[in-house]
Amino acid sequence: MASIEDLFKVVKSRFTDDSHSQPEKGVEIPQDLLFKCPRCGGVVYNAEFISSMKVCPKCNYHARLTWQERLELTADTGSFKELDAELQSLNPIGFPKYEDKIAKMQELCDTREAVVTGECTIRGYRCVLGIMDSHFMMASMGSVVGEKITRAFEYATEKKLPVVMFTSSGGARMQEGIISLMQMAKTSGAVKRHSDAGGLYITVMTDPTTGGVTASFASLGDIIIAEPKVLIGFAGRRVIQDTIRQRLPDDFQSAEFQLDCGFVDMIVERGMMRKRLGSILKLHGFPKEGTAR
Ligand SMILES: [Zn+2]
Repeated sequence: MASIEDLFKVVKSRFTDDSHSQPEKGVEIPQDLLFKCPRCGGVVYNAEFISSMKVCPKCNYHARLTWQERLELTADTGSFKELDAELQSLNPIGFPKYEDKIAKMQELCDTREAVVTGECTIRGYRCVLGIMDSHFMMASMGSVVGEKITRAFEYATEKKLPVVMFTSSGGARMQEGIISLMQMAKTSGAVKRHSDAGGLYITVMTDPTTGGVTASFASLGDIIIAEPKVLIGFAGRRVIQDTIRQRLPDDFQSAEFQLDCGFVDMIVERGMMRKRLGSILKLHGFPKEGTAR
């Protein structure tokens, strides 16, 4: 039985030594025992990190979630009915090994594409929910991501439902070339038609929301919420700095910076998100499930 000092010695070496030094003989470390925060460097028990919804208890860092985790934290239990789950990316410009990459991601993330859409209730209020998963090719937007988002808005327009969209993306999917860029116009058009029909659209920007997703449907929410300290921008910081040849503020492209600039309406902690979404839906007069309109 290893002492706690031995445990920490080995764990420390795993975090600090790039040469992946082997644990001392006889010391067995359970996998995923500890979580090291990439922002503050603090180390906490993984169980504590998970039970706090993957928010670092030391610095409030909101780690990226899988679509399944986000769904569980957002939708009422058992209420989610997925839409267009069968849609699958092709290889429109013949990008080398794109099909292999997609197949690998599908297995890893247990979904066919980087966005999952469906209908659900949030604290009793029916809505169309979209969740982008950055673990799937950095949730880049190709033809299927664009199509699923467009169809989600069209479904919401037809059913007179509000849309709640959790965004996170590295931008357009380069493996689909110009076709991925066309998704920006397509999704924006669907948002506009939903808006013209009087629909409510709430965007929740999570880490990172960038590129063509920021430049299209993510920025078009009637209400734009962000999780604390997430990265929100279009081009990367270095590209902008090199182009304008000016030093950018340290908090440039953070949710807080975007709130100060008026781009984001509110920053909501993960633990409060579901309640806040429910309040906004209630405020807009949507009927609670089981009650008359
Ligand atoms: Zn931290």
